[in-house]
Amino acid sequence: MATELSRDKAFFAFSPDVVPVMRLKQGEEISIETHDCFSGQLKTSTDTLETLDWSITNPASGPIYIEGTMPGDVLRVDLLEVRATGPSVMVTVPGVGGMGEMITEMETTVLTHTEDTVIFKDLIEVKQKPMLGVIGVAPAEGEIPNSTPGGHGGNMDCTLVTTGASLYLTVGVEGALFGCGDMHAAMGDGEVVICGAETPGVVRLTAQVVPIPGLPTPFIENDEVVAVIASAATVDDAYKDALARMLGFLTDVAGMPLNDGAMLMSLVGNLKFCQVVDPLMTVRFEFPKSVLAKYGYVMPR
Ligand code: CA
Ligand code: ZN
Repeated sequence: MATELSRDKAFFAFSPDVVPVMRLKQGEEISIETHDCFSGQLKTSTDTLETLDWSITNPASGPIYIEGTMPGDVLRVDLLEVRATGPSVMVTVPGVGGMGEMITEMETTVLTHTEDTVIFKDLIEVKQKPMLGVIGVAPAEGEIPNSTPGGHGGNMDCTLVTTGASLYLTVGVEGALFGCGDMHAAMGDGEVVICGAETPGVVRLTAQVVPIPGLPTPFIENDEVVAVIASAATVDDAYKDALARMLGFLTDVAGMPLNDGAMLMSLVGNLKFCQVVDPLMTVRFEFPKSVLAKYGYVMPR
């Protein structure tokens, strides 16, 4: 049976100073329960954000000390399963989110779950694609609230962080101090209203150090694409960083001629929003693995 971690073991900021709740061997499978981003405080449509205890929002389960990891190591997290257990909630909050100035009423909506869908107001059935909003490691120094994305990972709200994907993060401190949470049963790119279908869930994963010098992290791959994830104060700054780091990966790591990389990024790559509602904006740049293979590069396993 896999090692397990309860959702009761949660933290609210990635930091070298948060005491790990457990140790995990590299490659050892763990099953992690996660809270929804409100720590389960919103249970019915009459529970609104007015009464919310904000100090316990955006919990991440952990932190987990991953044995044998040192600062500068690239940690590959293989997401074996990201499973929503439901129910999910969504909210509107006046003044908050991508359309905050247009929203006048606070609302909480509970979405029921079927085996593989969520149901919005008994009207719209949406296929589940459970993903983790928050996933990361402690930065080398300082404290980054779980509300905030960055080079350490954190609240990236990237829809690629789902079953079957591998996420690469650079370890900041000995033991990595890994954690994850903020699962969404479904969400569109951008997370524009401020949330997805916010759900508790269970994640099965392994984590191990991989020798890929120069890999620009946070970096993610699935069967089809690799992607760099970039967060910055503005979308402009985030996309420029994502483009620069993907081109750097194509040339320095995958060995592609610079102009080939640049033209192919424009021909078959995709610049996408992750989220525009957190303290920093997050975008990603996706590039097809089939094209990398034509240039003789495959991600080492
Ligand atoms: Ca989030
Ligand atoms: Zn969330």
